[in-house]
Amino acid sequence: MCRKGVYVRSTAFKVRGEWSKEAVAEIKKSEHIALCHWWEDYLQDRSLFGKRTIEAVRPKFPEWITRTHGSLNYYMSQLFTGHGSFGHFLFGIRKRTDESCPHCGNDSDTVEHTLQTCPAWAEERTQLIAMIGPVEERALTMEFVVGAILGSERLWIAFANFAREVIKSKEDEERRRRQRSPIVFNPLPGHPGRGQTDEL
Ligand SMILES: [Zn+2]
Repeated sequence: MCRKGVYVRSTAFKVRGEWSKEAVAEIKKSEHIALCHWWEDYLQDRSLFGKRTIEAVRPKFPEWITRTHGSLNYYMSQLFTGHGSFGHFLFGIRKRTDESCPHCGNDSDTVEHTLQTCPAWAEERTQLIAMIGPVEERALTMEFVVGAILGSERLWIAFANFAREVIKSKEDEERRRRQRSPIVFNPLPGHPGRGQTDEL
């Protein structure tokens, strides 16, 4: 659900003196449904979402929205959407002049590069594979990850930890890069905000 939406709507109920546990439960339910619909639309729009990441979630979408464990944190959502501190994405929204990986110099810094091959995350990747594998590094796709973490809360947490460690480091590096060269292009209009993907 969207925490901000729930907060805004339940505050409005309090102001009107109409707040109750049932009302808040209803708000949470409707916010969750709205977010599910937002995701469904989002998953179907290939101009917004990388093809390979669409394929990761869509085959398992019913299991995804009805699962009883695991919330999608901010760092995981970057790996699912490809929207975040990836050279490929930053180049696409004109925040970088090329899409190379700042950690290893590879020509294209994508979700797949981060997950499967970037040597900067070898240790984190080995730890993740030890939990959710066995799997060859090249076969460590988001589709494989989704299948594994939907079946186990323990594996969900392992992947959430991987995402947090790796994406935090990538964000730190991007912040340092911007401080070194502060010229930033304006993002393209219509780019979805990051706050909408939390807690699905
Ligand atoms: Zn790299």
